[in-house]
Amino acid sequence: MTQTDVIVQARNVQKSFGALKVLTGVTLNVHRQDVVCIMGPSGSGKSTFLRCINHLEKINGGEISVNGELVGYRREGNKLYELSEKEVAKHRMNVGMVFQQFNLFPHFSVLENIIEAPIRVKGESKAAATEYAFELLDKVGLRAKADSYPRQLSGGQQQRVAIARSLAMRPKVMLFDEPTSALDPEMVGEVLAVMKQLAAEGMTMIVVTHEAGFAREVANQVIFMDGGVVVEQGNPGEIFGNPQHPRTKDFLSSVL
Ligand code: ADP
Ligand code: MG
Repeated sequence: MTQTDVIVQARNVQKSFGALKVLTGVTLNVHRQDVVCIMGPSGSGKSTFLRCINHLEKINGGEISVNGELVGYRREGNKLYELSEKEVAKHRMNVGMVFQQFNLFPHFSVLENIIEAPIRVKGESKAAATEYAFELLDKVGLRAKADSYPRQLSGGQQQRVAIARSLAMRPKVMLFDEPTSALDPEMVGEVLAVMKQLAAEGMTMIVVTHEAGFAREVANQVIFMDGGVVVEQGNPGEIFGNPQHPRTKDFLSSVL
């Protein structure tokens, strides 16, 4: 592995909200085409960590880089300077994010949801953005819904549109924050299938999930977080087959 194969590098990341220390030293390397699943109890800092990766939260210590570029800051000598909103937005294009709540624009059709950012943020032509949007709709199995509005779609369909919308920016890495937690059980599979396909195509992904089956099958690295730190990390065989830490054991026995 060369340095350029590291897509996300987090080093000793610290994050507090006031007096509450949420991340107390998270270190993680994600290589190109890795699928990293992050598991752990509610409140352990999983969402906060993902949000730090695209600078939706500012970190208080340590550093994160994406694709070799520091997130949110520029280094000059030993000093860090915070980037402007515009520069942050440019970096953010490298990072796709899919949330538990799909956050589609309700007054935009499926197609409009997908082409909005490539046109507005990247300056793509409408024709080019539309062509790629249909390619992505094929990928998530929703070409026929291009003119539908979010409210006309099931939760599973909306989440697949949200994935397509995120992919439309051609990100280097996709972050998923419990993408199936808000779905009715019968729709979980269709979303996981799309994510599995993405992984097979070589997308680099960090996925916060409680879906142990998905993690076992698709991840090449599983991280167990608790209390703002990475308690245990390894390949799925190690983490699921032979967890070392008592907190990992407890947690896994509650979700498996
Ligand atoms: P997880 O995703 O693992 O459930 P979170 O990252 O959402 O955990 O939250 C970790 C801790 O940080 C929780 O105690 C939560 O209440 C707190 N927290 C998250 N966001 C904020 C915020 N914007 N302001 C204050 N506290 C927050
Ligand atoms: Mg969360």
